[in-house]
Amino acid sequence: SCEDFTVTQYKVPKDVNNKWSVEATGDRNIEDILSEKAADREDAFFIIDLGRVTDKYKRWKEELPTVKPFFAIKCNPNTAIIRTLASLGTGFDCASMTEMRQVLGCGVSPSDIIFANPTKMRSHIEFAKGAGIKLMTFDNRDELVKVHSIYPEAELVLRIITDDSHSVCGFSSKFGAPMSSVEDLLSTANSLGCTVRGVSFHVGSNCLSPLAFEKAITSAAAVFRLAEGYGYRMDFLDLGGGWPGVDGADVTFSDMAAAVRPLLPLFPPHVRVIAEPGRYFVADSHTLAVNVFAKRATDEGGYLYYVNDGVYQSFNCIYFDHYSPRPRLLRGGEEEELHRSTLFGPTCDSIDCVAKDIYLPELNVGDWLYFTNMGAYTVAAASSFNGFDSCPTTFYIESDV
Ligand code: PLP
Repeated sequence: SCEDFTVTQYKVPKDVNNKWSVEATGDRNIEDILSEKAADREDAFFIIDLGRVTDKYKRWKEELPTVKPFFAIKCNPNTAIIRTLASLGTGFDCASMTEMRQVLGCGVSPSDIIFANPTKMRSHIEFAKGAGIKLMTFDNRDELVKVHSIYPEAELVLRIITDDSHSVCGFSSKFGAPMSSVEDLLSTANSLGCTVRGVSFHVGSNCLSPLAFEKAITSAAAVFRLAEGYGYRMDFLDLGGGWPGVDGADVTFSDMAAAVRPLLPLFPPHVRVIAEPGRYFVADSHTLAVNVFAKRATDEGGYLYYVNDGVYQSFNCIYFDHYSPRPRLLRGGEEEELHRSTLFGPTCDSIDCVAKDIYLPELNVGDWLYFTNMGAYTVAAASSFNGFDSCPTTFYIESDV
């Protein structure tokens, strides 16, 4: 059972076994809360709104009621979020032993976890076997043979390649079986005696077109038909990630759901459908506040500001997730004259630049800036380079969205 796993002995977020307190927002808006927390402090901090996570779950159930979301914790392995989603009834997508251990440590059943990394280390497969996590993806013959030799009872899901050209972060250069290899894989699986339950895909993270889902689902349906010829009556479809974290001008979650819904009847009614949303659940749950701790005037009449979170910490999303963070000034200042400004992070490295040549009112040392939509691929990959904390202090709130 899940209690058999002690998560503390592994490198997991330090709050994994802790309690956290959640404040009700009452009549306060996010700026009121940020101002309260910013008083008398210098270090950067996050406000995480668990109400938004819950709201996203409700919206998912409304738009895609027959698709069970398995939160991809890669995107943000925050334990409070994992526990919130687990209590709502989601499953989880894990890519490594540590992720599996963390989710199990939160009391999640092994049957609600998919080990969705198509290339897996031996020890991680052995861990999954010991924990009773059966569902796992593969996309090539060597992986199939390896998994079978270690864990013959694994329930395999064939990850197929997708057209990821509509996505900001594509995966098809690294993962996904080409359709031309599918029959060979099914035939090998059949001769080894593997259980192949179904098909998965990932259209790429931050996908901007519902067309990508339409094409991938159509390919998945073709694999289901092919599989019958190799003795497999598949019963599992995994729609992967790619779901928007924030509704944008290009695409909304509703657009994606509307494209997917009419295609689900392509699969027989006994097929269990899941998806692996990551950013969808967390992108808008985090607001990051940073303090201006130093300032320099430039010869051109602009300013360089130094703030206490940068690209080696939460703002790694600028590099890894192609995010353009937009600062807002907590004290207002909308009517003030604007100056050409650059924001640097705290490390002694010039690449540590959060925003270059933007226009802001003149800031003072001690002013606070804040950034919304900072929940996806931020803290997940933060480091403590140069001795600065990888994850700022976190306060939890629960708004009625
Ligand atoms: N599933 C897998 C296997 C992934 O690699 C990822 C990461 O992108 C996700 C799900 C989450 O997808 P997204 O970032 O689009 O939410």
